[in-house]
Amino acid sequence: MINHLPDRLDLYAAAEAGRLLRGRVELARLVRALPLLESPDGELEVSLELGRDEDGTHYLAGSVRGKLALLCQRCLEPMEYPLDVTFRLGLVHSQEQSQGLSDRYEPLLITAEPASLAEVLTDEVLLALPIVPLHSGVSTCRPPVTDCQTSANSQRENPFAVLAKLKQKP
Ligand SMILES: [Zn+2]
Repeated sequence: MINHLPDRLDLYAAAEAGRLLRGRVELARLVRALPLLESPDGELEVSLELGRDEDGTHYLAGSVRGKLALLCQRCLEPMEYPLDVTFRLGLVHSQEQSQGLSDRYEPLLITAEPASLAEVLTDEVLLALPIVPLHSGVSTCRPPVTDCQTSANSQRENPFAVLAKLKQKP
């Protein structure tokens, strides 16, 4: 067991060797995921298992866990999203080889170059993110008041406030 993650790894050789890796990756290194995050601060806990199954398929299985800050699409405030992804990737050298892969695996195309673990993890994180993040069970989560209601037409009463008053009347 290695308690840090290398930047790059020869996945095929690591699968041959049956390596287990555990460590943390900084969110800031998941460059392609950053535009979807409210904050690049923080780390994810990563656990990886590389090996060869009984069918001879080389695989990379693992999990990524941690907390992400996403923007709630209803109230436009940050929300904490607990990420907990598990994956099983079958290592393939070509598209043709991926056709023959057991459906227990998603194909991961590898090249002669050592793979960037941050890149592999970024893909898994992107797949796991909700398309429309929304707070759940948060009473303050409401659509924000738009600019024209607060600044330009500040004299005019917010229609939602009027509605709220109406609802308060017995
Ligand atoms: Zn919200």
